[in-house]
Amino acid sequence: MRVLGMGLGGLAVGAVLWEVRAPPIDWILLVFVCYLWPHLACLLSKFSSNRHRTELFSMVLDTVFIGLGLPLMRFNLLPSALIVTLHLMDRIASGARGLRLATLLALCAGILGGGWLGGYHWAPESSMRVILACLPLLIVHTLVLSLTSRGLIEKTARQNEKLHAMLRVDALTGLYCRPFWQEQAAVSLRKFFQSGTPSCMLMLDIDHFKQINDTYGHDVGDTVLRGLAHVIRGSIRATDCAGRFGGDEFIILLPDTCLEDALVMAERIRKRVATLRLRKLPDLQITCSVGVACIEKHHDDLGEWMKEADTALYQVKKAGRDGVASAHVPLATTDAAES
Ligand code: GH3
Ligand code: MG
Repeated sequence: MRVLGMGLGGLAVGAVLWEVRAPPIDWILLVFVCYLWPHLACLLSKFSSNRHRTELFSMVLDTVFIGLGLPLMRFNLLPSALIVTLHLMDRIASGARGLRLATLLALCAGILGGGWLGGYHWAPESSMRVILACLPLLIVHTLVLSLTSRGLIEKTARQNEKLHAMLRVDALTGLYCRPFWQEQAAVSLRKFFQSGTPSCMLMLDIDHFKQINDTYGHDVGDTVLRGLAHVIRGSIRATDCAGRFGGDEFIILLPDTCLEDALVMAERIRKRVATLRLRKLPDLQITCSVGVACIEKHHDDLGEWMKEADTALYQVKKAGRDGVASAHVPLATTDAAES
């Protein structure tokens, strides 16, 4: 933006200098400021050990140069107002902190320097030639600034989206994290109280997972967690929502599902987990316990609903693990119950 802005600004300033028959020193200054300085500033920033500080320094110098040009142009109204306004727009858009006072002081210093060089003359009228010379700066700079700002806004939006997606997902298993899962469960709860649509949840916990960690190490434990997540993902529908609640506890929301179907799903997952084998440890047997709960009218909130699933899970653990239970069907369909 500096190369573009200064370069196009040079046309406007040059038109005024031409009309006022400016001395060679003014032209030398114009060429340096508008066509050499922007590239020099780029190089300074590129090879600086502290790019941020160097860029701030260059920004202040930009302002000094702009101030310098105003008396040299005899305060010709259109180019002076245009250049100062676009420069301030640039400063505001750059968002650099603490530059407001520095910009004001640098502008005043530039005007004093310009006055010292060429004196103060007042000739604000802008001729048609000067107006035409201002147009490229007005049109091109403004459009490019808008496009750059739009690009930045889109990039920020994409990054925000990525960040939100990352916050939603558990890094180890790829399943949803607790807050997002709870949001989805709250939607199902509202739907139940509005239209009576039934929904269920499965609370699933790996059996003796501590022992797996202690015997084979945390890496194997992590592989088991990933394997279990894989089984869950392969067993649920696209409309279901599976999350990891931390440790070895998983939770699956089954919207628009009655208790009977939820128990079938829980049993299917339990059986698949029981057949899960790790390539490096084919003898390691993994089992899990599942508590199932359907939303009911007496569930005042999500906590109550989850508590019911947790109670059912606790029953399975107490009864020997590797099973499925719900408040209404205690261990009815599990191998544990059969044995
Ligand atoms: P139970 O059958 O009663 O569930 O017994 P358990 O040994 O599975 O007990 P519990 O569910 O309380 O064990 C959870 C363990 O999970 C404790 C903790 O060390 C382990 N853990 C928690 N997060 C991670 C993790 O990210 N990776 C691994 N490998 N282990 C984890
Ligand atoms: Mg466990």
